Amino acid sequence: MNIHEYQAKALLRSYGAPVSDGRAVLKAEEAKTKAGELDGPLWVVKAQIHAGGRGKGSFKEDSAGEAGGVRLAKSVEEAAEEARKMLGRTLVTKQTGPAGKQVNRIYIEDGSGIESELYLALLIDRVTGRVSFVASTEGGTDIEEVAESTPEKILSLSVDPATGYQPFHGRRIAFALGLEGAQIKQCVALMGTLYRMFVEKDMEQLEINPLIVTDKGDLKCLDAKMGFDGNAIYRQSDIGELRDTTEEDAKELEASKYDLNYIALDGEIGCMVNGAGLAMATMDIIKLYGAEPANFLDVGGGATKEKVTEAFKIITSDANVKGILVNIFGGIMRCDVIAEGVVAAVKDVGLTVPLVVRLEGTNVEQGKEIINNSDVDVIAADDLKDGAQKIVKAVKG
Ligand code: GDP
Ligand code: MN
Repeated sequence: MNIHEYQAKALLRSYGAPVSDGRAVLKAEEAKTKAGELDGPLWVVKAQIHAGGRGKGSFKEDSAGEAGGVRLAKSVEEAAEEARKMLGRTLVTKQTGPAGKQVNRIYIEDGSGIESELYLALLIDRVTGRVSFVASTEGGTDIEEVAESTPEKILSLSVDPATGYQPFHGRRIAFALGLEGAQIKQCVALMGTLYRMFVEKDMEQLEINPLIVTDKGDLKCLDAKMGFDGNAIYRQSDIGELRDTTEEDAKELEASKYDLNYIALDGEIGCMVNGAGLAMATMDIIKLYGAEPANFLDVGGGATKEKVTEAFKIITSDANVKGILVNIFGGIMRCDVIAEGVVAAVKDVGLTVPLVVRLEGTNVEQGKEIINNSDVDVIAADDLKDGAQKIVKAVKG
């Protein structure tokens, strides 16, 4: 689960990490009052969307040349004007995809004088199974680009969970970032704070890009991107309250209400599968036969008729879906129950694209009978390979 920059900065502030003063703005009318509460003489007006690259992004209905989603202003009036211009418009960045994201919130921040821009992130390194720091002198820019062209400029440092964060970690990072004097002490303290936050709040990702050295020589977090482990939100209720569902995929949101594990993808074949492993194998075999899955969907072990119907609704609401493959292994689940669910769902939702159903396992014969005896237009498949070939053929011809 991701949160907005202004929310991440409030959390950083509560832990004592250095951030600028700022105000969130949801309505254009509030912008001037909120901007007036900040000292100036520089104001930064920032679009709040769950995607980075805002500074270099552009608004959809823009004539060429207008500034992106991060703008500097020299007065309260100018800051309010920039906020008004951005609210409600669609910002496209490298990370939003071509559709972009609508800007519903603005953050107005007290502007900082910048001496240098650095990169810092904490993440869970899947190889070592540890929390890792990633630091680079090349802040403000695209870290993926740095990793590709000048990987020697990136320091990765994992923390042994048995010792936890130690000052030497902070000193190594400070050295890699070329910090001097009092900045080294600030860095050791800040890295300790960030590590503690990361662990206490069940984060998956914490990216400060840029971490800056201000014109006064102090460290400050100028941007913040935070992601939390969705499975831990039940014990992080304060974080759960920061959820902004307008930033999430509508189909994924709907699926989560019915406890369906659903991820929207870009392909043309909708998949309904039980079990995460089988769902992945199904996606793989669709690709093998030359098509692309439109989604990952695991209806789970205890799929009821209602769940199957909801899953169908979600799949068919995706305009990219040109065919559906149902691939169910009845273990604990019985194939006849699934078959009844599929037939009921098709009758309820309607079917405008080819549907291939492959059933295997407990009560498979009864299941096939239910499908064959229904007046639903289903292409039956014998096994996974057969099912994948049939749906790809039905869609691609
Ligand atoms: P992003 O483009 O979505 O990553 O947004 P950032 O918050 O990282 O801002 C993009 C860039 O705007 C930064 O790299 C800075 O160069 C600039 N910027 C942001 N805040 C300030 C500020 O307070 N003062 C100055 N001078 N520049 C800023
Ligand atoms: Mn940034």
